[in-house]
Amino acid sequence: MVRAAQATAAEQSVIALYDRFVLNTYRRSRVFVRGKGAEVWDINGKRYLDFGGGIAVNALGHAHPAIREAMLAQLDQLVHTSNLYYTLPQALLAEKIVAHTGAPGRVFFCNSGAEANELLFKFARRHGHGAGRFGLVTMLHSFHGRTLAGIHATGQEKVRERFGPPLPGFVHAPFNDLAAVEAAITPETAAVLTEGIQGESGIVPARADFLLGLRDLCDRRGLLLLIDAVQCGMFRTGRFQSWQRILEDAGGGGAFAPDGIAMAKSLGGGVPIGAVWIAEKHAGLFQPGSHGTTFGGTPLACAAALAVFDTVEREGLMQNARRQGEHLMSRLAVLAARRPDVVRDVRGLGCMAAIEITRDALETNGQLAEAGLLLIPSGTRALRFLPPLNITDAETAEACDIVARVLQGSG
Ligand SMILES: *Cc1c(COP(=O)(O)O)cnc(C)c1O
Repeated sequence: MVRAAQATAAEQSVIALYDRFVLNTYRRSRVFVRGKGAEVWDINGKRYLDFGGGIAVNALGHAHPAIREAMLAQLDQLVHTSNLYYTLPQALLAEKIVAHTGAPGRVFFCNSGAEANELLFKFARRHGHGAGRFGLVTMLHSFHGRTLAGIHATGQEKVRERFGPPLPGFVHAPFNDLAAVEAAITPETAAVLTEGIQGESGIVPARADFLLGLRDLCDRRGLLLLIDAVQCGMFRTGRFQSWQRILEDAGGGGAFAPDGIAMAKSLGGGVPIGAVWIAEKHAGLFQPGSHGTTFGGTPLACAAALAVFDTVEREGLMQNARRQGEHLMSRLAVLAARRPDVVRDVRGLGCMAAIEITRDALETNGQLAEAGLLLIPSGTRALRFLPPLNITDAETAEACDIVARVLQGSG
């Protein structure tokens, strides 16, 4: 981590402004000025391999020409109209999302993951309204965003610290434990919400039998099954949605579909956009006036997201995400086998992986960055790999070489 004392004059010129004018809600380091693909350069001219991807956002890496061209063309046409009018980019993007989800549904556009989850919470309340049901069962160690409801949905105490009192209706159950989820359901429960792969808590995939069991449980109890796909969706696992990949690997799940899905992060390839897919049979719960946002689905952001979909399809990035994920996992597994004293676990699917280490994750993350590799810490013991979906064999190999070198050094 760059501390003020070690910062160069160039860095200090930026950091000093943050120290005076930006609210201190992040532990930050390094000043970045430019990126290309999976590479990024700081203000001192130092190059890094970016395997954090802006926290699973930069699906095509930095400065991708397809996003640039789509946005430049849209900038010359129409940037924003509000949702009082129809625009073609929003219509085409909704069609894409429904097609890739593989079940009939409708899309609402917003600007972030937390906002997408807010609509899921309101969806649950609408669904349960007549029956006096308004609560959600969510999973321990989950993450659902930083809005007031999002922090109460999140299964981690630390995000709620001194933001009480709690919002009514949110209860938490252990992830991948169907019996515990069933036991947590109360007469107030309207929905169950889970990530397909828990991201912030260190890349923990849902088991196929858990997902199928939740679907059955929700059907039996009249509850909505909601998926937070903000981090694990958008082709990161080699399929559009992580559950499609998880169920495919388990040899089934063709007919599985949740009732609602929250998306954001990689959706716009770096441009802020979120979306919620709602199963067609529930679409009637919403009418004009029941939900809204000024910016959501603005043509500029939709043009960027359409460019991401087109590029993923055209360049076979679903296959690449799988291939690079296997390459990464096999290299990390070799390291774990050689140094079980340092690497305790390796987990992941596609371009979404983590190592659990016996050292402090924040400090190790700083050492990796010093060595030229950006990862994302999860808690105190895990480091996440969330690279662009178009990384190359050489970049994956370089990242693994740096990890092996740093983790086998003293520490
Ligand atoms: C990042 C994230 C969110 C919050 O998204 P924001 O765009 O930061 O509001 C919600 N859920 C999951 C699973 C996430 O990873």
